[in-house]
Amino acid sequence: MAEFTMELNDEQKEVRDWLHGFAADVIRPAAAEWDEREETPWPVIQEAAKVGIYSLDFYAQQYFDPTGLGIPMAMEELFWGDAGIALSIVGTGLAAVGVLANGTEEQIGTWIPQMYGDANDVKVAAFCSSEPDAGSDVASMRTKAVYDEAKDEWVLNGTKTWATNGGIANVHVVVAVVDPELGSKGHASFIVPPNTPGLSQGQKFKKHGIRASHTAEVVLEDVRIPGSCLLGGKEKLDERLARARERAKQGGERVKNAAMATFEASRPAVGAMAVGTARAAYEVALDYAKTRSQFGRPIIDNQGVAFQLADMRTSIDAARLLVWRASWMAINGKQFTAAEGSMSKLFASETAKKVTAQAVQILGGNGYTREYPVERMHRDAAIYTIFEGTSEIQRLVIARTLSGMPIR
Ligand SMILES: Cc1cc2nc3c(=O)[nH]c(=O)nc-3n(C[C@H](O)[C@H](O)[C@H](O)COP(=O)(O)OP(=O)(O)OC[C@H]3O[C@@H](n4cnc5c(N)ncnc54)[C@H](O)[C@@H]3O)c2cc1C
Repeated sequence: MAEFTMELNDEQKEVRDWLHGFAADVIRPAAAEWDEREETPWPVIQEAAKVGIYSLDFYAQQYFDPTGLGIPMAMEELFWGDAGIALSIVGTGLAAVGVLANGTEEQIGTWIPQMYGDANDVKVAAFCSSEPDAGSDVASMRTKAVYDEAKDEWVLNGTKTWATNGGIANVHVVVAVVDPELGSKGHASFIVPPNTPGLSQGQKFKKHGIRASHTAEVVLEDVRIPGSCLLGGKEKLDERLARARERAKQGGERVKNAAMATFEASRPAVGAMAVGTARAAYEVALDYAKTRSQFGRPIIDNQGVAFQLADMRTSIDAARLLVWRASWMAINGKQFTAAEGSMSKLFASETAKKVTAQAVQILGGNGYTREYPVERMHRDAAIYTIFEGTSEIQRLVIARTLSGMPIR
């Protein structure tokens, strides 16, 4: 187990500086354009692929860093550049982690390369869990997967919503119900291979922020996929379902709101994205406060402004520490006895919302215009308290974990 540390080692610092350079030189200058276009920034993803940032190798290297700091450090730097573009770059990683966590070695080897493509022909992947009537309440999912034994095929039907890269992905990872009696224990994940008939993009959403990231509905109509596309395989699924049925018979509660328990380990990564956006806005505000003069002195000369900046920086550093602690715990197999993953996501995302709003205020009229990046950062920051579990759901998870009570 790696010692917990608050300092990056030399190798990590080198990676951080390299990522920061990419974020500053490639991502940040493109941010306003792709925000206005509301389109996937394919040329930027391609640049990231060329230098090795958009690849499974890079993601896996950071993911398996024994200090746990690889992913949060990478997320913070990329999202410091721009949240929408960075999500377009790391969105595939979320689907890839779904396969890494549940897939067999063969599935990992077959599908993950197809999620990324290569630098000359980049592809993206989507992770489709949320539905119109199943957001926070994942157990209400309706998309069904039915096994056709004669053909060894699964047939998927349903509508997914809010899928990052949904419909434009080469590979979709779809969560579906295989046994409705078991709540979220009766769910399984499937690969929908490229160009599978029956999968189509529904509505593409016009969003408040992270507009360079594509978000859309994914409609599944009699989508037939080979048996080999069930992540983890049929045998493992049957064993898991049998265990869940046994527990249910013995009076085990029907598991509801599985979203609350799952993703605990991946939540610090979202916290790190929020830290990146917050830091970006704080830096712009600090610079501005030192150079903008009113009443014959820089505005930072007023405690009312300087104290805001002091609070902003304090919250950002506190958020990063919570994120790093949870990331270190996750990679070292430490149990989240106080929902530390949720804590880090809750605090960092609320910090990003608050700090970006303060940055807009410090820039005055300029902060309210698209001439300055804090306006975009403020819009972008709102997503962090919503996806991967809303702030209310994080509080629910923390309160339940602390109390051991079924708080509603
Ligand atoms: C830009 C974007 C990208 C996304 N990307 C993906 C993706 O790639 N894949 C994917 O599967 N999903 C994705 N999502 C979906 C996201 O995870 C959901 O939006 C989120 O889980 C919330 O679900 P909901 O929108 O249905 O809100 P709801 O669950 O309807 O919640 C509405 C409000 O009620 C509150 N609430 C609900 N239940 C409770 C409760 N028990 N106690 C207190 N308050 C409660 C919530 O906190 C929230 O404030 C994305 C969403 C967005 C906006």
